[in-house]
Order: sequence, then structure tokens, then C-alpha cells
Amino acid sequence: MRYISTRGACPDQSFEQVLLTGLAPDGGLFVPAELPHFTVEEIASWKELNYSDLALKIIAPFIGDEIPAPALRAIVEESYAEFNHPEVAPLSKLGENEWMLELYHGPTLAFKDFALQVLGRLLDYVLKEKDQRVVILGATSGDTGSAALEGCRHSERVDIFILHPHNRVSDVQRKQMTTVPGDNVYNLAVEGNFDDCQRILKAAFADQSFLPDDRQLVAVNSINWGRILMQIVYYFSASLRLGGPQQAVSFTVPTGNFGDIYAGYLARQMGLPIKQLVVATNTNDILHRFISSNDYSSANLSRTFSPSMDILVSSNFERYLFDLFKRDGAALVDFMDRFNDQALHVSEKQWSEVKSCFDSASVDDATTCKTIAEVYAETGLLIDPHTAVAVKASRECNADRDIPMVVLSTAHPAKFSDAITQAGLETPTLPAHLQNLFEREERYTVVANDLCAVTDFVKSQLEKKSLS
Ligand SMILES: *Cc1c(COP(=O)(O)O)cnc(C)c1O
Repeated sequence: MRYISTRGACPDQSFEQVLLTGLAPDGGLFVPAELPHFTVEEIASWKELNYSDLALKIIAPFIGDEIPAPALRAIVEESYAEFNHPEVAPLSKLGENEWMLELYHGPTLAFKDFALQVLGRLLDYVLKEKDQRVVILGATSGDTGSAALEGCRHSERVDIFILHPHNRVSDVQRKQMTTVPGDNVYNLAVEGNFDDCQRILKAAFADQSFLPDDRQLVAVNSINWGRILMQIVYYFSASLRLGGPQQAVSFTVPTGNFGDIYAGYLARQMGLPIKQLVVATNTNDILHRFISSNDYSSANLSRTFSPSMDILVSSNFERYLFDLFKRDGAALVDFMDRFNDQALHVSEKQWSEVKSCFDSASVDDATTCKTIAEVYAETGLLIDPHTAVAVKASRECNADRDIPMVVLSTAHPAKFSDAITQAGLETPTLPAHLQNLFEREERYTVVANDLCAVTDFVKSQLEKKSLS
């Protein structure tokens, strides 16, 4: 499979190449040159497969012969063996024809484990083959950091540095990152906010001269295609258990960077019958405004109970816009350039295409808490605030109660106990493997909100290691 950039100005690349970078050299994001397509009969024949076997069917065409089948199988099976539920992504019933897809049974209790467990192992395999080492540099507002550290800590050829905003992540989130053992694992608490971390990250990727000659930076946020790829799988898995593919299914997805919902969009393009795809946002609602009123303009960031969706501009939305613009890289560059200083609209024709593809809703904090309490009263299930945003949005947007509606539950409630307490419920307990989290030793370094402070730190740690 070949991959092309959404900005259309760089040569196409292999799967391995896109795995080992971040943005494309022209500033775009990599997407497959062509999507594989599965027939209904083919999808139906996967009904009895376990999660790993299903994953292998779906991802194989994207990887081609770049990774031999037995090696790929081992990577996938090991990754999902880390999950503490035999079904990996189980469904639970929320209401009449309304389901919750529990994506929080991985090591760090958020859906990011689905991709990052695999990504760490894939990187390790590819780097061994090439006899190469890389440096992962990532920024996190919480969940990506711990999932990336957990996924990569065994990778012998990877040094991983994760920036988080000092004093601005939850205690559980910080502990999950800073207690990960390993001499290739580094946490940096930046004296700034998440946007500052992202700015530093972007600048470091743009000029990598601080690294030794034989190293390059690899991205672990969802601009990395490998993350999107692994998220396509659970749409198929949920559908197959609810009567699909003969029966169409709808999904509601709590959305920040548009990675998870984009994976659902791809599943539909690949032949999975999906009726509605609902984009659920909190009050940081650029995507909802665009879908519902053709207004693509950034606003001020607000801090909400669902911090993993506190994002002004969703990076993966570019991947969808690329399709909307009929894969015309130049048109996309023009749109993105104009976005810097003004509110944008697409043509009426394009907007009706958007509306036929997605529904959307925005949910505020008060309603989020109310929904947590409601769902608990109705079902006895505790849901996290990101999931609650999606439950509320799905109930608002559901157009056909005869179609099963699946709400993606992206995090375990114990990860975001503030909203649960606010909803008047008792704080949920952490699963057994994290029960002693607060007794574990933390390791992190506070650094100034400054590019050089970060690059100097990375450089000195790598030098120290090469001497020892
Ligand atoms: C990252 C995250 C999201 C948002 O996912 P995107 O792929 O960025 O849209 C939603 N919920 C939780 C709990 C997350 O960690």
C-alpha cells in the first residue's frame, strides 16, 4: 500500500515510512492512496473471529507485504493480550437498541491503548529490521501520554519523551505517566499549557538538528497513520456483534482531534454499512459548528470536564477535508492558509455532502454531569464524562430507533472522577492493576516553557545514554 500527503506536494511513501514520521514533509498528513473495499459477504464471514483475528483481516491490506504475516500476527496478539477483558472491546446495553462500546479495558484505561499498544510493537519490529533507533517526542493533555509510554516502554530501539503541561493534568493522568518504569522513558512537565507543549513539539519536528545524526523524531499523536488504522477495527467488531453487516449500525463518537471518528468514516468507506456517524463535542465545538452551520472558525479554548476533547482545531479533520475537496491537495492548502485569519465556509454542495456524512451535537459541562447521573439511574453503569458527552449527543441526533446506536466509551470513569463527583455519585475505584498507583514512585523533570529547554534536555539524556 502506498500513502500520499493531503497537501499533494511530496512523493508517495510506504507504510513503514509513514509509521516512522509525523507530518508529511509538505506539512500535510498521510492517507492511503486507495482504500481497500470489503463486500458484505466477506465481512459477514468474519463473524466468528476473535478480536485479534478480525484486526488482522482489516489491517493486512494497509500493510501489504511490508511486514510478514506471522510477525504481524504476533504483534497484534501480544497487544490485545494486554487488555483485561476477554472480548477486548465488549458492548454493554444502555437502553432500547442503544449500546456502549467499552474501549477502556487496556493498560491505561482509555481507547488510545488500542492503537498505541500495537504502534509500539510495530515500531520495534520495523526498527530492528532496519537496525535503526528513533526518538519519540509527544505532547499530551493526558491520555495519549500514558498510552504511548505503556506501548513503547519495551521498545529497545526507542527513546520516548512526553511533554505534559505542568500542574494541568489530573492526578491519575500524571501518575499514570510518571510511574512508568524504564530507562528509555522520560516525562517533561512544561511550565505552560497544552498549546505551549504542542507549539514546542511542532518546532522540534521542524528542526531536528538537536538530535544525533542517526536519529529522527517519530510522532505518536493521531497524525500518525498507524493510530488511525488500528481504530478502524472496533467499528467492524461492534457491527458484527449487532447483526452487521446485513444490519446497518450507527455510531456516536466523542471527538477531539477527529481521529476516532475519522476511523469510523473510513470503516464506512471500506464497505461497513454505517447509517449515522455522530460527532459529539463538548463546548469546544468547531466541528459541530462546521457540520451544523458551515462555520469553520476557531474560538477561545474552554476547560471542561472532558479535557481530552478540549481542542481548538482538530488535526485529523484535514484528512476528511482532503476527501471533501476530491483529493485536490492545492485546494486544501488554499483552505488551510486562509484559515489562519478568518472564518471559513465550504460551498453549498460540499456542505450538503458533509451533512449527509455526519450529524453532530455539542454538550456543555452541566449537561455532561446530568447525563452521567441519568445513565447511572437508568442502568447502574458509571460512565466517564467523554462518554457522557457522546451519550447525550447520540440521544439528540438519533434519527432511527430501529437501527442499533453504538456510543463509543473512550475512558474508564475512574480516570475522570471530578465529573463523577460533580454528578453526585461516588468516585469509582481503579481496576486492580492500578490499585497501588498512588504509592508508585514518580519520575519527571519540570522544564521551562521554551523550545531549547526541551531540546537541550533530550540531547543531554541521549548523550548520557550513549556514554554509559
Ligand atoms: C483522545 C480522547 C478523545 C478524543 O479522541 P480523538 O481521536 O482525538 O477525537 C475522547 N475521549 C478520550 C477519553 C480521549 O482520551
